[in-house]
Amino acid sequence: MLEKLAINGGPRTIIKPFIRYSSIGAEEAKAAVSVVKTGVLSKFLGCWDPDFYGGPRVQKFERNWSSYFGSRHAVSVNSNTSGLIAAIGAIGVEPGDEVIVSPWTMTASATSILVWNAIPVFADIDPATFNMNVSTIRRKITSRTRAIMLPDIFGQAADLDEIMQLAKKYKLKVIEDCAQAPGAFYKKKYAGTVADIGVFSLNYHKHIQTGEGGVCVTNDPELAERMQLIRNHGEAVAGDKGISDIRNIIGFNFRMTEIEAAIGIEQLKKLKSLVKQRIRAADALSAGLKDLEGLKTPLVKNDRTHVYYVYPLVIETDKVGVERSRILLALQAEGVPNLSEGYALIHLLPLYQKRIAYGSRGFPWTAPFYDGNVSYDKGICPVAERLHEQSFLGMELCKSQYTDKEVGLVIKAFKKVWRRREELR
Ligand SMILES: *Cc1c(COP(=O)(O)O)cnc(C)c1O
Repeated sequence: MLEKLAINGGPRTIIKPFIRYSSIGAEEAKAAVSVVKTGVLSKFLGCWDPDFYGGPRVQKFERNWSSYFGSRHAVSVNSNTSGLIAAIGAIGVEPGDEVIVSPWTMTASATSILVWNAIPVFADIDPATFNMNVSTIRRKITSRTRAIMLPDIFGQAADLDEIMQLAKKYKLKVIEDCAQAPGAFYKKKYAGTVADIGVFSLNYHKHIQTGEGGVCVTNDPELAERMQLIRNHGEAVAGDKGISDIRNIIGFNFRMTEIEAAIGIEQLKKLKSLVKQRIRAADALSAGLKDLEGLKTPLVKNDRTHVYYVYPLVIETDKVGVERSRILLALQAEGVPNLSEGYALIHLLPLYQKRIAYGSRGFPWTAPFYDGNVSYDKGICPVAERLHEQSFLGMELCKSQYTDKEVGLVIKAFKKVWRRREELR
């Protein structure tokens, strides 16, 4: 234990690469092969026909998903990104409407808004949970605000009841981007089922996957229908289906294949136990790291669970006395995998800084439909910016299995670096 830090020539704490996370096994292989053998790899038809809703596995997957999560409707799609686009379209966003979104998320949370020529407005995050909260959202509400795109970031739900109340007061719709939080509880409900629409991801680094894929859930039959239309060439269907409100019924092809749905059916059966394992690893990490000076382990609010897509840490550099980048290099030298400094500041991407989205002339910000003056200046989200630039350290639990032994080694490496951190100054 008195060994030198690996970064200074001492022995590495972790020698063996961690086991890659995978939720896929023999059940998924069998399910996929059985679909291929039928020869029917997809059964969607883009016209008003029973097959407008997809094939038997797609429909079964959706039934299973809605009964698991306790939502009235589930609409499968080919990615979470597609699902967010369908959701924003379904709630009837108009060009030039403002939609409040976090800067601390994956870019699709915000681009799904731009797709409908609406304007993303970034609200800051809570330093304890990394989610937007009522007060950061409230400050961004204007007469143009139409909706809130609310990521349940890293796997813990935002303050949903309070945010839904605020939304009701201002007549806003709320979409939960639940890509990182499948199976997380908010009070007695699953994250994703509290807002007007929740959107899940099934891409290959999420808790469960179908390669690419996603699911939208809602209790509102009208929103479900509108998402089904946007998913599958709605403009070709609306007339025959007797849809009178055709706003935003510009259909895409967001359809999931029968193979993916068959895999998804198997994956959903595993979600509970995969989430349990993930929480077990994170709880062990928190127990092992909580006493390190100036290292903040994740805060989990007592009315919800955290499913840890990322295990979020904050380094209080004034207490630690060493810069984050030095700590990171020292931990990596000890062999700790899956670490990254900071997370995301979407508002600072060139897209927003230059306001170049569609074409080169500033559309949709310069369109006559928009008369607001949203700012994307550095400084508009000081909490997120400080975390990103100085103190946040993420551990991507989604990338490795985090067996008990691996978790033990991570704790050992952190303790070694903390004990000898004087050597990093
Ligand atoms: C993964 C992710 C997405 C995108 O999901 P895809 O299925 O890859 O489109 C969107 N938002 C968040 C918060 C994510 O983590």
